[in-house]
Amino acid sequence: MNAVGLTYGLVQDPRHTIQAILDLRIDALVGIPVQVLALARHADRGRIAPGTIQSVLLSTDYVPRAIVSGIREAWHCPVFQHYGMTEMGYGGVLACGAHDGYHLREADLLFEIVDPVTHEPIDHGGRPGEIVFTTLTRYTMPLIRYRTGDLASWVDGPCPCGTTLRRMGWVQGRLGESVRLSDGVTLDLASLDEALFALPDVLNFQATLKTGDGQDALQVRLMTRRRDTRLPSQADAALRRVTAIRAALANGSLILAPISMENGAGLTGPAAKRKIVVERV
Ligand SMILES: [Zn+2]
Repeated sequence: MNAVGLTYGLVQDPRHTIQAILDLRIDALVGIPVQVLALARHADRGRIAPGTIQSVLLSTDYVPRAIVSGIREAWHCPVFQHYGMTEMGYGGVLACGAHDGYHLREADLLFEIVDPVTHEPIDHGGRPGEIVFTTLTRYTMPLIRYRTGDLASWVDGPCPCGTTLRRMGWVQGRLGESVRLSDGVTLDLASLDEALFALPDVLNFQATLKTGDGQDALQVRLMTRRRDTRLPSQADAALRRVTAIRAALANGSLILAPISMENGAGLTGPAAKRKIVVERV
């Protein structure tokens, strides 16, 4: 393919990474969603001329749509998604040029999507369930119907790219990742991601739910690329549009704490899976 892969490691200092992209004449990036977003939204991003980055592949964590849009806006290049885990031998499923779900590595892995409660297979698109896989070619550590804890649904019908491989829709988050609010409604990280990463100055955030006697408080700390005093109120408005939050605010079971903001890279390593932290007070 006339391509050379260079390992760089985690982004610790986006400025340094952008310099390395220029020095090494990198034209394709593979990385963790929030880390690549931090590069695409960094003050130095303009040093990378338009057309330099020709494609981006995101892996390691599930990918909020707002992060894909943020990266596309910065570099005007296709953003591909990979989903896999150590237990799959890393390679699992990969998006094609149609950007409408992933194709599966069916020669080595048998994928199923099952109802998280009954464990009955879901064979058609539309209804999300837990991704379960069986290894087909492994002798040393075979896995049979291994539960990933990740949620996705099938995509029916042929893919516009022309392949006959089956298609799985984007991973929508993880089981057990959502938190239950006092009014019984669940709030998931994915809806917070779509609300907050859509704001162009947001690089990352930490959400903490403090639960008490019948009333919760949601506290959000934003990591931003610059200090803009309007940002907390924009983030507050975005959060109030999240269905679960709007309902809980209306019935008085939730309050939104003032949103704090800190200027910085907002980077997390692969060990730090992003989640809503719950504190009982
Ligand atoms: Zn395809």
